[in-house]
Amino acid sequence: MHEPMNSRARILDAGDPLAGFRDRFIVPEGVIYLDGNSLGCLPKATPARMEQVVREEWGEGLIRSWNTADWIDWPLRIGGKIAPLIGASPHEVIACDSTSVNLFKLIAAALEMRPGRKTVLSEPGNFPTDLYMIEGLEKQGLAKRRLAPREQLACALDEDVALLLLTHAHYKTGEVFDMAAMTRAAHEAGALVLWDLSHSGGALPVDLGGCGADFAVGCGYKYFNGGPGAPAYAFVAERHLQSARQPLTGWFGHAAPFAFSDDYEPAPGIDRLQCGTPPILGLAALEVGVDLIGEIGVERLHAKSQALSEFLRQCLAERGVTLDLVSPADPAQRGSQLSFRHAEAYAICQALIARGVIGDFRDPDILRFGFAPAYLRFEDMAEAARHLAEVLESGEWQRDEFRERAAVT
Ligand SMILES: *Cc1c(COP(=O)(O)O)cnc(C)c1O
Repeated sequence: MHEPMNSRARILDAGDPLAGFRDRFIVPEGVIYLDGNSLGCLPKATPARMEQVVREEWGEGLIRSWNTADWIDWPLRIGGKIAPLIGASPHEVIACDSTSVNLFKLIAAALEMRPGRKTVLSEPGNFPTDLYMIEGLEKQGLAKRRLAPREQLACALDEDVALLLLTHAHYKTGEVFDMAAMTRAAHEAGALVLWDLSHSGGALPVDLGGCGADFAVGCGYKYFNGGPGAPAYAFVAERHLQSARQPLTGWFGHAAPFAFSDDYEPAPGIDRLQCGTPPILGLAALEVGVDLIGEIGVERLHAKSQALSEFLRQCLAERGVTLDLVSPADPAQRGSQLSFRHAEAYAICQALIARGVIGDFRDPDILRFGFAPAYLRFEDMAEAARHLAEVLESGEWQRDEFRERAAVT
């Protein structure tokens, strides 16, 4: 009965210019992976590269590899590869630490650059770590946290605001901020802006430079496929590279780490954002993921992600599935995801996972499907819609086993 959907999917897949890239990833048999926005799939090239770094560079090269394999330059080299994918120059981006730690460093740096102002403005419901990091600085007496709903942010930008901290594509709803407009509004109020690109980097076109953004951070393990806990990245606009001082003044951010001086002097460039010894194994895996995303190109990924999510919506509609869409209906207004609200979202999500359709649940009632277009097919959309329709119609989500909460949701 739904054959037309599947044959349309096959036609779309046949005409998909990115179809060949699926084979560059390991996508487990029988899995439709709609969670690449939480942990991207493993690129096929990663294990061999890791093996080489572990066995040759670490095993044989040992300490010499800091020079002979250029380990020392990897944070800058990989940051430089991420840069063009987010509208930055190579010397403005570094791959280091976690997104949370980079948030802390850059919020503190921004506060120091706006003496007399202490307020960090964000929105309620922003990703928890972003809000917690402001709180941490508040406890130290360095910041004051102010939260205002999206529509009231512009009014809340007064002369106390040192920094506006926003997530470009919202992790739950996928709603995307107008980066240029919000950056302009903050600057007009004399504030700096820090963008969290965790759900945009490697999926949406981002133009940090064109928008005049001051700072940004983002994740390595989501759309960049860098692996669990991959190093994150941080951006500082060229004009701030001399004045932005971060508080985690570890020796790797020193102007001359191997001079072993008693006193800290920040490196002149973006490497001042480093703290301790870079995690070489994590960086090796991240680089493979970043290279692959760079090869495909963010514009093409974005176009396909919009087409995939719209096709999924069509398939759901044709199957008579009516779920409450909390993401913007206009694909231009949302990130690479679709989120639906349902009181039983958790159990439905578990029932789908049991069928091999891996999306995720976000407390309290959001069923979230992410589209990592590098390895998804239109056929996967038609199949995901079929499974979701069947799960809802059969009521199989009501089974006890699907209601037990695991530690990680
Ligand atoms: C995933 C995500 C993070 C993750 O931070 P970690 O330090 O890597 O745990 C931060 N911010 C946003 C908006 C995210 O979506």
